[in-house]
Amino acid sequence: MTVETTDRGTLPDVPMVIGGERVEPKSWLDNIDPSYGEFLCRVASGTAGDINRAVQSAKSVAKEWAGQPPAVRGALLRALADRIRQEADALAVLETRDTGKPISQAKADIAACARYFEYYGSVIEAFVGHDIPLGPAFLALAERHPYGVTGHIVPWNYPAQITARSIAPALAVGNATVVKPAEIAPLTPVRLAELALEVGFPAGVLNVVPGEGPTAGAALTDHPDVALISFTGSVPTGRQVAQRCAARGRPCTLELGGKSPHVVLRGADLDRATPLIMQTLLQNAGQTCVAGTRALVHESLHGELIERLANGLAEMHIAPGLDDPDMGPLISAGQHARVRGFVERATAQGVDVVTNAQPPADLTGYFVPPIVFDNVNPASEIARDEVFGPVLAVTPFADEAEAVALANGTEYGLTAAVWSQDIDRALRVARQVEAGQVFVNGYAAGGGVELPFGGFKASGHGREKGLAALDEFTQTRTLVVKLADGE
Ligand code: NAD
Repeated sequence: MTVETTDRGTLPDVPMVIGGERVEPKSWLDNIDPSYGEFLCRVASGTAGDINRAVQSAKSVAKEWAGQPPAVRGALLRALADRIRQEADALAVLETRDTGKPISQAKADIAACARYFEYYGSVIEAFVGHDIPLGPAFLALAERHPYGVTGHIVPWNYPAQITARSIAPALAVGNATVVKPAEIAPLTPVRLAELALEVGFPAGVLNVVPGEGPTAGAALTDHPDVALISFTGSVPTGRQVAQRCAARGRPCTLELGGKSPHVVLRGADLDRATPLIMQTLLQNAGQTCVAGTRALVHESLHGELIERLANGLAEMHIAPGLDDPDMGPLISAGQHARVRGFVERATAQGVDVVTNAQPPADLTGYFVPPIVFDNVNPASEIARDEVFGPVLAVTPFADEAEAVALANGTEYGLTAAVWSQDIDRALRVARQVEAGQVFVNGYAAGGGVELPFGGFKASGHGREKGLAALDEFTQTRTLVVKLADGE
């Protein structure tokens, strides 16, 4: 399904891709365009039977795929990257219609999606095991092997990017894959599977079965022929998935939520920090695992930061995603109610509201304004829980020790930024922050396909992105040969 138009009309049905075929499901779900709250298209509601068919299809080709030289698999991944770039505009429109995100953000997502296939299609040729020197009587090798069939459970906030992030390394090392996208945002993952077939991926190597979590997701998690689950989503669901994997003795990687802080230290350059604090709050309307949703600020800069944020956010353009605003809608009515609930509870508790500029009244989609709460008690809900909306909690601190305690004071540990022009101070603090990625005087480094990514603490375990993902999707076989004594 190629969508060249930016019209607001409905889209064709989105089926499943199993065994190299577009497969119609027994039942469909309505997909809603979040920018308008209107019907967009029907999407497949995959069943446990559909998941089984997809897994069997992957299993039937897994050995052959794993037996291909890395150069062959790599060339296919790079061809897919090229094909994604050819169709980038249409894919971005699909992503925006499905999620509501501003079209320029969707374009950046599609560019990152292509980069994942390009990067893993390139580095796979240099991915090698190693030998272990045990002396002249032995040959000892640590070989890297794919698992076989891997399952990939994907959330709704970055469907194209996260699908690519999860499957590109898995495919590169020789696994055959089954993807279960989020039931409310499966459009680009299904299209990626179609594009993979177009560029010559063998049927069955990449299957995509949209469907609901408790049915299709659970069936994938529990399937006896799935050797590893790569899960990206919320902490509660991730823990359920991990328990079910543990019951089968099966590994899983968990890429979960966050409550990431910007730590604005004494001497920070607010000209540099403020735009990124706003950007990492507004991007995808705050529905980003690495959203910077806490600003911990030294008391000397507190007043100035609040003033800059209030002025900057008041000018933000909020509109449907295709209009390319600064911020689009939330993904769904349910997410809208959830975010409003957090805001209403904090407001009822009397937390200071800095800015709460309402979106234009004629918008019919799931819009909320960006909201900054000031002087937030670090023990309160708004400071501790992941809202997954454009809600920033600002808390001032007096010294470095307090800043570190605040930064580490939630159960999460995904990402953080430390801001200071004093490099000693910045590094001293950065090295004490419990997070899988810490940035100094910047944030997210342009997507960072090359940078290992994953959580400390409740934010998960296992690493995606970078070379680290190649290790996650392979297992080591140690092969030892004892040589006979010489004559
Ligand atoms: P979610 O946990 O509700 O759903 C994620 C996926 O799990 C969906 O495909 C869903 O259908 C599936 N699922 C639901 N119940 C399931 C079950 N019982 N068994 C198997 N699968 C099931 O999360 P969401 O609301 O889609 O996404 C938002 C969350 O994802 C946020 O917490 C966000 O921080 C997190 N996230 C993390 C990262 C990361 O890389 N760390 C990236 C994006 C999103």
